[in-house]
Amino acid sequence: MVGEIRDQETAQIAINAALTGHLVFTTVHANNVLDVLGRFLNMGVEPYNFVSALNCILAQRLVRVVCSYCKKPVQYPDEYLIESGLNPEQWRDVTFYEGAGCFECGGTGFRGRTAIHELLDLSERIREMILNKRPGSEIRRQARDEDMTFLRESALAKARSGVTTLKEINKVTFIEG
Ligand SMILES: [Zn+2]
Repeated sequence: MVGEIRDQETAQIAINAALTGHLVFTTVHANNVLDVLGRFLNMGVEPYNFVSALNCILAQRLVRVVCSYCKKPVQYPDEYLIESGLNPEQWRDVTFYEGAGCFECGGTGFRGRTAIHELLDLSERIREMILNKRPGSEIRRQARDEDMTFLRESALAKARSGVTTLKEINKVTFIEG
C-alpha cells in the first residue's frame, strides 16, 4: 500500500514494486479515472513500465444518502432534467426521492453516505492506446465500448433507485451533455 502518489520518486517506487510481482494499491488525487493516466505520465514515469504495472483504476466519490425516515417521492420539471443532462422522454416518469428533513436527520433530509464509482480495467487495447499517447477522449470512448460504467452513470443509477437525490449527484459529478 503506497499512500497518495505526488512525485516521480514515489511513483517509480510503486511501479517497480508492481513490476517485481507485488500487488500494489495506491491513491492519486484526480477528477476521474482518465485523469489518473495523465497524472502519472506527467510525473515522468516510463509509459511502458507504467502500463505494465497497472491493472485497473478505480475512482470514487461520496454522496449523501436520502433519510429513510422522511424520504418522499418527487418529480422534476423537464427543464431540470435537461439541465441535469437527462432526456425528459426517458426520465420524465422516473420517481426520484428527497428527504423532507426530520428529527432523525437533523433536518437535512440525508442520513449517511454511500460511494459512487467508476472502474477502468486495462484491456490490451487500452494499454496500447496509452502507450501510443492517444488523447483521453479516445481512451474514454474505447472504455465505453468495453462497457465501462462512468462516475456520472453510477451516480444516476443511485439517484434513479432513490438512494440519493438528483440534486446531490449534480453537485458531486459533472453533467455530460
Ligand atoms: Zn429525515
